[in-house]
Amino acid sequence: MLTGMQIAVIGGDARQLEIIRQLTEHDAKLSLVGFEQLDHAFTGASKEKIDEIDFTVQDAIILPVRGTDQDGLVDTVFSSEKIILTKEMLEQLPAHAIVFSGISNPYLDGITNESNRRLVKLFERDDVAIYNSIPTVEGTIMMVIQHTDFTIHGSNVAVLGLGRVGVTVARTFQSLGAKVRVGARRSEHKARITEMGLIAFDLSDLESNMKDVDICINTIPTQIVTASVISKMPAHTLIIDLASKPGGTDFRYAEKRGIKALLAPSLPGIVAPKTAGQILANVLIKLLKEDMKKREENQA
Ligand code: NAP
Repeated sequence: MLTGMQIAVIGGDARQLEIIRQLTEHDAKLSLVGFEQLDHAFTGASKEKIDEIDFTVQDAIILPVRGTDQDGLVDTVFSSEKIILTKEMLEQLPAHAIVFSGISNPYLDGITNESNRRLVKLFERDDVAIYNSIPTVEGTIMMVIQHTDFTIHGSNVAVLGLGRVGVTVARTFQSLGAKVRVGARRSEHKARITEMGLIAFDLSDLESNMKDVDICINTIPTQIVTASVISKMPAHTLIIDLASKPGGTDFRYAEKRGIKALLAPSLPGIVAPKTAGQILANVLIKLLKEDMKKREENQA
């Protein structure tokens, strides 16, 4: 249980609802900022404005997956309130308080560093990233079906990158009957791709592997699907770019060539917000319990 813990949940989308539900079930006391348009009420949680929050009593702050934007703005889909998280707010937190987000950026890194508060980026954890790859791939399949007039079964699919998302994409499209090839730069990744029964190619040979590709799914967060790479693709190729914004595709050139290229951010939050929220909530609760136990032991 998280009895006695005070947590501010600031902004977010439908994923946050599952987090709020589980935290209240664990008896944490919540202040919800950016949820005033949400009809549902949670026992043990009160809706507040950002300037009503008493930061001096918060044990944790939970931000949306994106954290903040470069100016400190926190996204919320349940409010029209403009929520800005500042260094001054974090400075008021108790020294033990933890700030949770999915990812970060220079602004959020900056204010947490300068205020000397701990920032936990949940998506940097392998467990979260691997669980999260499941709804990501389900969303990818949905997009491919929506944007093609041919089956995934039997099509030539190129997956770029064999990280936590790439593995799940490659394996799932293989199980749907696609002919999957995976581009990687590390020799151990190419060995793993071969072991999985897939075709491995080096990213230096990317262009020559695009000649007959029907679907190209990028997971590499750097400019990799360049104009030159796109110029080698057949006209009907669909590019789905899963890499974090701005993606790894030259979208301008793809449009010029008439190739459909789609940047597909935050798929878990779109196709399976409940599951995506559960993934985050499970890890959050585990981390909060560990922190609580550590503080109790230190006080004993
Ligand atoms: P990851 O485990 O770090 O994997 C990234 C892959 O990209 C690795 O294979 C890595 O290879 C490769 N890579 C990185 N930089 C490269 C470079 N300069 N040249 C060649 N290869 C490079 O990351 P992940 O968890 O799979 O996530 C991949 C991307 O998807 C991230 O941008 C993440 O934010 C995004 N994502 C999007 C969604 C969505 O809904 N669209 C959901 C989850 C994640 P090496 O090991 O050789 O570096």
